[in-house]
Amino acid sequence: MINISDRIKALAPSATLAMSQKSAELKAQGVDVINMSVGEPDFNTPAHIKAAAIEAIADNFTFYTPVPGYMSLREAICDKLREENGVSYTPAQIVVGNGAKQELCNVILATVNPGDEVIIPTPAWVSYVEMVKLAEGKCVQVPATIDSNFKITPAQLEAAITPATRMVLLCSPSNPTGSVYSRAELQALVDVLVKYPDIIILADEIYEHINYTGEFTSLASFPEVHDRVVLINGVSKAYAMTGWRIGFCAAPLHIAKAVSKLQGQYTSGCSSIAQKAAEAAYTGSQECVETMRKAFERRRDLIVKLASMIPGLKVNRPDGAFYLFPEVTAFIGRTDGTTTITSSGDLTMYLLEHARVATVDGAAFCLDGYIRLSYATSDDNIKEAMKRIAAALARLH
Ligand code: PMP
Ligand code: GLU
Repeated sequence: MINISDRIKALAPSATLAMSQKSAELKAQGVDVINMSVGEPDFNTPAHIKAAAIEAIADNFTFYTPVPGYMSLREAICDKLREENGVSYTPAQIVVGNGAKQELCNVILATVNPGDEVIIPTPAWVSYVEMVKLAEGKCVQVPATIDSNFKITPAQLEAAITPATRMVLLCSPSNPTGSVYSRAELQALVDVLVKYPDIIILADEIYEHINYTGEFTSLASFPEVHDRVVLINGVSKAYAMTGWRIGFCAAPLHIAKAVSKLQGQYTSGCSSIAQKAAEAAYTGSQECVETMRKAFERRRDLIVKLASMIPGLKVNRPDGAFYLFPEVTAFIGRTDGTTTITSSGDLTMYLLEHARVATVDGAAFCLDGYIRLSYATSDDNIKEAMKRIAAALARLH
């Protein structure tokens, strides 16, 4: 049998996508599962964006696209970055790819050498660690827990830096915790990074608009580090466009060129139709973004209220994204008489089987003893899911 490469053997499958797949399979068998595993807006893509895609087909935007994306889309992204984030980029510094996911991976592959250290505050999104592995870099985790609202301190960051540090990866608002760093908190981290001019700052800002604090600061807007920030964003979350697969990086020119070179050999420019849709998202009315944000905020309030009432769950009040990340260590060692819970992973399987609610194990985000619930689902689903979870957990003694 022809063997699989060591690279792929060492790679963990995406736990978020795996749990979502499991929940879809159960649903297809007629099981009434509430899927709180995958993180994606449950709204349809706004009508004016869909119309732009249909028009793009009619207008024959059906040929290969430039590797870094259509110029008109990159210009629209530059306008967005200037107007919303107060940062100045030229279209040559933007590379559009198949989702923020591809651009994150491209940037890591384009800048990290084998053995380079990449600092990742944890808990962190499932794919970061695996992307660094692909680049043969070394992950240096900087842990935070619910007691610090899942945020790291400047002292923790500084203690993790070594001469081998190549990159620091920050995600705010955060997946899986929903934590949002304030401008002052980011400034304090920047004050540390300013002392280490060779470190690239990879800023994943995909949840920019799903924010309940009323304030968003882009890491690229700090002039003292601007020339080494690589900003990642995209349309998946803000415009309910997860299936269109459009994200981008905004980077120092030499990094943008390297990313483009990689993409040119690997996937080429991304879908012509999806790019025209993304352009409509950035240039059209932004009302839809606020409408969805408000719905997520209402659901955040609802899930925090209901989860806080469940004995044993330790819950905080996330300021952004659409995830709740409760600590569940109180249930470890408990049993319903048949199943004994020995880890947060066991608890997610127990909840799938006995509450019919799909969640994700905190271990997939590098923090055992927690689970992630995505509340990007209807108010009714949230109420029903929390009722079922409460009942299932009450059976554990
Ligand atoms: N970063 C984070 C933190 C995410 O949660 C996601 C969600 N998929 C992505 C990046 C990638 O988004 P996409 O590829 O859909 O643009
Ligand atoms: N980012 C979402 C999540 O964390 C989508 C799935 C994925 O790409 O991981 O659930």
